[in-house]
Amino acid sequence: MERGIASGAASDDRASSTGAASHDHPTPAYGNFIAGEWVESVTGRTFDSLNPADARDVVGRFQLSSASDVAMAIRAAEVAGPGWRATPAPKRAEVMFRFAALLAEHKERRARAMTRAMGKVIAEARAAVQEGIDIAFLMAGEGRRMFGDTVPSELPDKWAMSVREPLGVAAIVTPWNFPIAIPCWKMMPALVTGNTVVWKPASDTPGCAALLVELLAEAGFPAGTVNLVTGTGEEVGAALVENPDVDVISFTGHESTGRAIAQAAGRRLRRVALELGGKNAITVMDDADLGLAVDGIVWSAFGTTGQRCTACSRVIVHETVADALIDRLVERTRRLRLGDGLDPAVDVGPLISGHALEKVSGYAGLARSEHDVVCGGRRAAGEGLEHGFFFEPAIVRDVRPMDRLAQEEIFGPILSVITVPDYDALVTAANQTRYGLSASIYTASVNTAFRAMRDLRAGLVYVNAGTIGAETHLPFGGMKGSGNGHREAGHAALDTFTEWKAVYVDYSGRLQRAQIDNQPG
Ligand code: NAD
Repeated sequence: MERGIASGAASDDRASSTGAASHDHPTPAYGNFIAGEWVESVTGRTFDSLNPADARDVVGRFQLSSASDVAMAIRAAEVAGPGWRATPAPKRAEVMFRFAALLAEHKERRARAMTRAMGKVIAEARAAVQEGIDIAFLMAGEGRRMFGDTVPSELPDKWAMSVREPLGVAAIVTPWNFPIAIPCWKMMPALVTGNTVVWKPASDTPGCAALLVELLAEAGFPAGTVNLVTGTGEEVGAALVENPDVDVISFTGHESTGRAIAQAAGRRLRRVALELGGKNAITVMDDADLGLAVDGIVWSAFGTTGQRCTACSRVIVHETVADALIDRLVERTRRLRLGDGLDPAVDVGPLISGHALEKVSGYAGLARSEHDVVCGGRRAAGEGLEHGFFFEPAIVRDVRPMDRLAQEEIFGPILSVITVPDYDALVTAANQTRYGLSASIYTASVNTAFRAMRDLRAGLVYVNAGTIGAETHLPFGGMKGSGNGHREAGHAALDTFTEWKAVYVDYSGRLQRAQIDNQPG
């Protein structure tokens, strides 16, 4: 049974399945959204989603769907496809502008629902909804751009240009840690370019998905353009990515899941865009402003309880400032307040689940046995924490670049500190990972900064800032094992969901042979 799936039992209140949460019902129930209707799964089974800050709190009840539900959603997306594709892109964009405005208007409810569903503190949840708003406005703008090239032909009286075309049905599979932003990063470019969508959200955050789809429907996306099917990755996710009628897959999640999806897509020669894990480093040179570095490290390592793909999990520091930096980090980390993220005074929320708590605790045990844990590293106890998956943010020193702690994605608040003698060793250690998502350097030297911008092998590089905080109008994605070369956000996002068509118009009235008639001999 997958994380987040708390119950596979048949629900006796399925008839109340709806996209809207009912506050007078003890457990609000939600349907799948297929062909513009909120519907129950053909399985008749549901699952409960729990609040990780207090696992007694059931956030909602959701459809435990099957491959048959997926097939119906794909069919709905296929049926809606021709009409949506034929809708002029600026008109598609008008619907998206309405959606962006609605999301802005209803931001607070979505942010609070996100904190309750997955634990990140409310300020971060608001920011995570804002990312969705930003990408929706950005992509709606693409409805009037979506540039191709118009170029001179090598032959007289001939026109040459390229245009983007949608691919068809886009399968969107998303993780729980950004349950609104990441789906928007994927669905907005897919929809504005004329694709239709079937979305399988993470099992830990289906409620955020339902709240997002409600607004997409209200904005006026026609029936069948956006479809939502909840359930497990093994059943619903796999059925979606393996369906021959899906034309493109956009996935964010674990490397191992991405690998399986890429294999399924490869067998059918389907396009697949993967955004995977990270082992992101903040590097600190001897001339760095240590106060600034501490701010950036604590924010990047322990924000979202270390559960961001871009979270900093390694600090690589010049040996002359290592002790001073660690002392300041420990002092700051000990002051972090753990608790329910809906309390605005809380700095660090819970881990997503008992399974995550177990995994992170396992790495903390490894750290205690092989390294020097200078603070934190245990399940957090105390009033208000007893029913949640809380873990004390940990700092571990005396870690070497190839140690397991420095190589494996922990996805929790455990920060390894690696000490190096000079810039070359710092860059070598930063790059000594199979991932390449985000990296940063703190230095006062413009020369060192520019060298690092060139040398760090990561899709995102920050200078004098932490490893998190990407903006939606720049490309987002990783090198090496952090993905398969695609990018989200920015105008690069359009590439995943479109293919190029080159169009030639010969108005000479005679046969003109390229590479022959315009060449001597
Ligand atoms: P996950 O791989 O467990 O799940 C992601 C999604 O895939 C979920 O919806 C899940 O149900 C589905 N899924 C699971 N098995 C499947 C299968 N066999 N076929 C199809 N779908 C399947 O990941 P997660 O725990 O939700 O997210 C955490 C991971 O995501 C971390 O590794 C993190 O680094 C990564 N992540 C990456 C980015 C990025 O942009 N690079 C952003 C956020 C998270």
